[in-house]
Amino acid sequence: MALLYYSSTRGEGERVTASKAVLKGLADDGGLFVPESIPALPDSLENLAKLSYRDLAMKIMGCFLDDYTEEELKYCIEGAYDEKFDTPVIAPLHKADGAYFLELFHGKTIAFKDMALSVLPYLMTTAAKKNDLKEKIIILTATSGDTGKAAMAGFADVPGTGIIVFYPKDGVSPVQEKQMVTQTGDNTCVIAIRGNFDDAQRAVKKMFSDKALAEELFAHGYVFSSANSINIGRLVPQVVYYIYAYLQLMNEGTVKAGDKINIVVPTGNFGNILAAYYAKKMGLPVNKLICASNVNKVLTDFFRTGVYDRRREFMLTSSPSMDILVSSNLERLIYEIAGSDAAATKGFMDELSTKGIYTLTQKMKDSLSDFHADFATEEETAAAIKKIYENDRYVIDTHTAVGAAVLSKYRAESGDDTVTVVASTASPFKFARSVLHAIDPSFDGHTDEEQFADLEQVAGIERPAAIKELETAVVRHTTVTDEAGMEDAVKARLGL
Ligand SMILES: *Cc1c(COP(=O)(O)O)cnc(C)c1O
Repeated sequence: MALLYYSSTRGEGERVTASKAVLKGLADDGGLFVPESIPALPDSLENLAKLSYRDLAMKIMGCFLDDYTEEELKYCIEGAYDEKFDTPVIAPLHKADGAYFLELFHGKTIAFKDMALSVLPYLMTTAAKKNDLKEKIIILTATSGDTGKAAMAGFADVPGTGIIVFYPKDGVSPVQEKQMVTQTGDNTCVIAIRGNFDDAQRAVKKMFSDKALAEELFAHGYVFSSANSINIGRLVPQVVYYIYAYLQLMNEGTVKAGDKINIVVPTGNFGNILAAYYAKKMGLPVNKLICASNVNKVLTDFFRTGVYDRRREFMLTSSPSMDILVSSNLERLIYEIAGSDAAATKGFMDELSTKGIYTLTQKMKDSLSDFHADFATEEETAAAIKKIYENDRYVIDTHTAVGAAVLSKYRAESGDDTVTVVASTASPFKFARSVLHAIDPSFDGHTDEEQFADLEQVAGIERPAAIKELETAVVRHTTVTDEAGMEDAVKARLGL
């Protein structure tokens, strides 16, 4: 069978195998790697429904990462989806508020990023071997709070790799920050920046496409790669759990094979929802993909008007991992709806970086009908947490609550009562303060430690291991810089 190649959203030339795309992270022209076609589901839904999470991951990831041998993929998947997850189901569904919450936070760092970042280090080191890479891989990552920790947890002390994470100093939750600055592993490095996530992401992307820097690195025995969702190795593992959710609904008799479902995704960089879109393109029966934003609602406006306009105030919210105005992965959707036209895609992205705005053609806008988009205010988000707690005794985190609030509005407007899966992207313990405030502001005066105990009481569940670890964790990373100082910080770290 012919291999599935990946090409850049911005250039015609470069075609690489899956393992090369994983290694490189970003294409040389600054574009994102996309599969030249989206594979179809490898078997009937009935047969897939019999598989465990790992076996399903073998099948689905195998379709995309087809230059990895079965043995290599098995090694990656078995190494990733093991006891690091606190449930053998890996991604369980919880019924509440008339929907099914797909809990993606049972991994080591209690956010959905673990679903892909527990396997990415295996995919990357395997790719390095396959492609005879001699250089040390330096993972350069901008984080809105959760990617950084999950990536470091995956790459810590992995031979042949190093990782440098940049996070916005004032743009993450206390638990997120503590998780990052206490990271162990000699090959990990965490740097706070005075700026927001978009600043960090822009500077990281710039370093990736800086040819002189790449040469300097290479001369010192290093190559860069990415653990952000711009890496196809992040996206592919995320396709698996949407299919798994559907199969769980089949197995419990909620849907019959072929019935359509809706999927709600609290969105920031557009990676998680793009994975759901890929699942739909593979043939998963999906009606609407519901893109939920917080008040940084650039995507809501985009889907409604066909105009992407980042020229607006960046807001800090209680769902910090979604505080993003430049959603990188949207570029992959733009490429798709432009009919795989790299020149057109490059045109839009150039306009975005020079003018801060671009407008789709009418034809492209018309092909966005797979999506519904809306946003939730801070009040609506808090109200969703409170309502679901009071009605169902189920406590959701602030990001998931943005999704739940948008779903309520969508149902009221459309009358669509299709069975719906909501991607539940983080444990409420990661955002304990905001979650408890939403339930009852009288918790506000309590210390962080008291609040973990409060949340255990309220939610009726024990605090996850990731929270327990923080009690004794020692701060190891204290560097702070401006966006302008990021490149120097990287050079200093690598001894260039
Ligand atoms: C990263 C993140 C999101 C946003 O996901 P994208 O793939 O960037 O759209 C939502 N919720 C949480 C908790 C996250 O960590």
